[in-house]
Amino acid sequence: MNPLQANLHTHADFCDGQKPLEEMIRAAVDLDYLALGFSSHSPLPFANDYAMTPRAEAAYLDAMDAMKEKYRDDLELLTGLEWDLDTPEGFVPFSRYDFIIGSVHQLHVKGKTYAVDESRESFAVLVEEGFGGDALQAVQAYYDAVVRSALRPQVDIVGHFDLLRKYNDRNGFFDETAESYRKIARDALIGIVNQRKDLVFEVNFGGMKRAGLLTPYPDRFLMEHLCRLNARITLQADAHAPNALGEGWDEAIRYAKEAGFRYVYRLRQDAIWERMQI
Ligand SMILES: [Zn+2]
Ligand SMILES: [Zn+2]
Repeated sequence: MNPLQANLHTHADFCDGQKPLEEMIRAAVDLDYLALGFSSHSPLPFANDYAMTPRAEAAYLDAMDAMKEKYRDDLELLTGLEWDLDTPEGFVPFSRYDFIIGSVHQLHVKGKTYAVDESRESFAVLVEEGFGGDALQAVQAYYDAVVRSALRPQVDIVGHFDLLRKYNDRNGFFDETAESYRKIARDALIGIVNQRKDLVFEVNFGGMKRAGLLTPYPDRFLMEHLCRLNARITLQADAHAPNALGEGWDEAIRYAKEAGFRYVYRLRQDAIWERMQI
């Protein structure tokens, strides 16, 4: 059960979600959701296996319009986009979207594209081939990209801030407790908050079940920092299947409270961020 009765970071089968849009919506209705948003992956200008094609995006936008009408008495539906840094602004029909999550899933080094969150093997290739084995250089490049992504003016939500931890279990590539790592992450975070007070950071706990991550994104020290900076957060399941809409919420709420937060925010259909006590 989800005590906040809302989720924005949801994927259906227009991109890499497992189920059709309506099946996800019905699951949310069954869970008594007040609001459900979708965050389909923006079309990319290179081959990949997770983003929408431009044709799928057109179908997604039309399907959302139809679903909003069909389910208007059941829950608020929001049409969102998980906007990759690599999708040029001119590609995105912003007027049809209710919200935009700014995310980084790959880095470009010397003309080559490397995935950040695909597999341990591909992350190793990013560090070795892209940065000559210097993981901290990869870390710096990743956070530079996250800052660029978040500061795009159309972005509403900062997606999985420290996604590059996904395949760094047991600190296999870099030491997440070391000041050398933490300073890079913290500086990026502060830079974003200082320049865009209106942004909302997602606390993304979808990777915990799917990737076996020990803490949601962002990590605990970053959460505490966000709290000190009075930044706003929103809890997000990053759901790729119906069951994920109902799981992990109590733990996520506890995680936010432990970092010092007393409130989280949910986006309403009228574009207002509603403050909710936790
Ligand atoms: Zn993502
Ligand atoms: Zn996602």
